[in-house]
Amino acid sequence: MTMDHEPSYTHRKFLGASVAVPAAFVIATVFEAGAQAPRIEPTPACGDDGHVTPSQTEGPYFKPSSPLRASLLEPDMPGTRIVVEGTVLGTDCKPIPRALVDFWQADDQGRYDNAGFRLRGHQFTDDAGRYRLETVVPGLYPGRTRHFHVKVQAPDQPVLTTQLYFPEEPGNRRDFIFNPALMMRVRDGEGVKLATFDFVLDLRPSGSRRSGT
Ligand code: FE
Repeated sequence: MTMDHEPSYTHRKFLGASVAVPAAFVIATVFEAGAQAPRIEPTPACGDDGHVTPSQTEGPYFKPSSPLRASLLEPDMPGTRIVVEGTVLGTDCKPIPRALVDFWQADDQGRYDNAGFRLRGHQFTDDAGRYRLETVVPGLYPGRTRHFHVKVQAPDQPVLTTQLYFPEEPGNRRDFIFNPALMMRVRDGEGVKLATFDFVLDLRPSGSRRSGT
């Protein structure tokens, strides 16, 4: 594959005719040419060429010590219901039981609860490394596309901080943090959206892991 950083003939001619063309003009032209054919990678899976779930910024709204709960739903909570489920795996594709999965998100109006723990909760994967979250679809807030925040930690391993995204979301193309490798598969169920995402963690060698604590 070659990267075409060569300006078009027209631009070369133009550049030759005027040494005063600012570099920003050339950079913008190359960028625009590349933007016409964006590469959308399919969501990678465990076993795909060393794939690990990428980390992302924590953002300003994480709070430690969230409640232990797999459902963030409350009786009066507005919004579209969604179930997010999947497996936490190592790069060897083996499921990781008792992994921490800690979600936090905006409500359907795009607001975070920074006073309490509304729409915040952690759970641990079961014996098959599976997690299951019941919640509402997060709303939009300025500057970001639709997303969940999550921290994932296998026992005695480093914490992975990342975010999950929705397919076919117009804001994905405008959000510079968005990463298609973090896009969930989402389908419509009966009165609820059903989303899946598997986390793949790059585990440290087991010799460095503690036990019994
Ligand atoms: Fe956020």
